[in-house]
Amino acid sequence: MKTEKMNFNPANQIQDLEQFGEFGGVNPAITDSATFTFMQAKTMLETFTGEEKGCFLYSRHWNPSNKFLADAMAAMEGTEAAWVTASGMGAITNAIMQICNSGDHIVASRTIYGGSYAFLKNYLPKFNITVTFVDITNIERVTNAIQENTKIIYTESMTNPLLQISDIPTLAEIANRAGIQLMVDNTFTPMIISPAKLGAHIVVYSMTKFINGKNDCVAGAICGTTEFISSLIDVNNGTSMLLGPVLDPLRSSSILKNLHTLHIRMKQHSSNAMYLAQFLQKTGLKVIYPGLPEHPQHELFKSIMSKKYGFGGLIAIDVNTADEAGNLMELMEKAGVGYLAVSLGYFKTLFSNSGKSTSSEVPENEQKEMGMSDGLIRFSVGLDDDIERTAQKIEACLKAANLL
Ligand code: PLP
Repeated sequence: MKTEKMNFNPANQIQDLEQFGEFGGVNPAITDSATFTFMQAKTMLETFTGEEKGCFLYSRHWNPSNKFLADAMAAMEGTEAAWVTASGMGAITNAIMQICNSGDHIVASRTIYGGSYAFLKNYLPKFNITVTFVDITNIERVTNAIQENTKIIYTESMTNPLLQISDIPTLAEIANRAGIQLMVDNTFTPMIISPAKLGAHIVVYSMTKFINGKNDCVAGAICGTTEFISSLIDVNNGTSMLLGPVLDPLRSSSILKNLHTLHIRMKQHSSNAMYLAQFLQKTGLKVIYPGLPEHPQHELFKSIMSKKYGFGGLIAIDVNTADEAGNLMELMEKAGVGYLAVSLGYFKTLFSNSGKSTSSEVPENEQKEMGMSDGLIRFSVGLDDDIERTAQKIEACLKAANLL
């Protein structure tokens, strides 16, 4: 598995795509249509029944612009197919609901994006689907949590916000042994980690983040086998077809163009984050960054990553209390370090206090249990050309906040 991963180059996969516009445009044309006409009634019927696969029917099902982006995502992940959604949550919830029925069970990492946590913990019980949250780095706990009715192991490659690394090859082995699906949210580490190449069955994304990189829309993707993707858009019982979280084709078209610069952006995000992590660590602050040798999964990360894209653009620092975090973030915004904002993967640096924002759905006692402190600030490090200057600004803010 690891050898295959090493030979896999997600950027080459994207570069090799030959996707042309209708009139030879170097970018695929935007298909600005909700519905599609047929020359023969029979072909329409066959498209409905799935016998005819070459025609477009209705844009909630497939649209050519969405197909171009979905094909590019599948190429990048090395999966047979993909489908694009109107948000990352649309991707996560649809993929889960397609697999699970009433009475089923999921084993999930307890450190995941707050929205995913809330969906699993608060929303799924309405459908009689139960979830056991575990420390995903504790393989024994994961194995022991699997029940007869378990259908999915759900995790993030790099978990939000504690930046733990999931051992995808081992989790895939556990899933295969139990005959269940390993679903991985790879939002934090596109290209750096290729979960499907490491054995994951389904890969989900918030394309809102690094994939698009421009913070101008929300979007998501589900990557998997042709069989699974087709099941999602089955006209009779496909979750995506029936719940309808389809991405707008205008957006697909702009995200596709941004996907072609992802490899360059990931390298710059990672090298800037590494610089800041080392700089902040030297000041004596508590820093979490998977690129630092002290990170508990540093060696694991090295063994499953594509090294040339680096260790990712996310770092977290701990300044003890939410008030101190708030004060520091306000100072950093004024100093031009970046923006006090949720989300990540943007060209400018974004920072937020996870416990009071993107993980606020996780109850405080559970935040404590998973090791998330009140003063945790998550940085999504931007594409700054002069990261040394940014580091100096942060240092000045830390001093002004009496944290150094
Ligand atoms: N997955 C992760 C890891 C995230 O951080 C987020 C959002 O912050 C999501 C999924 C949800 O994505 P979206 O906001 O595009 O619905």
